[in-house]
Amino acid sequence: MKNLKPITCRVDELIAVNKFEVDEENAHIELVSEDLSSLPDEEFGKLIRVCPAGLYREDENGIRSFDYAGCLECGTCRIACEATIIKKWEQPRPFMGVSYRFG
Ligand code: SF4
Repeated sequence: MKNLKPITCRVDELIAVNKFEVDEENAHIELVSEDLSSLPDEEFGKLIRVCPAGLYREDENGIRSFDYAGCLECGTCRIACEATIIKKWEQPRPFMGVSYRFG
């Protein structure tokens, strides 16, 4: 499994038509540490692979990032890592978060 690159499925074009109201004062998803480099590789790797919006990232230098802006509220990351590195996952406050344009 070492040399396998994760296959990430993204739906960027479809996501781009959605509208997002980002709640800057209240992140609806938080990880157990703001220092993403301290998180276990296996667990963060899961998040990279499962998030359909591609919000969990690691660049070619191994620098990790996460931003809840653009979240589709699918809950997949919660299911994958709630027991490990997802500290908080809740629905955004009223009128915040994603508004789907196609239902
Ligand atoms: Fe990505 Fe879905 Fe988690 Fe939002 S809820 S960060 S879209 S996996």
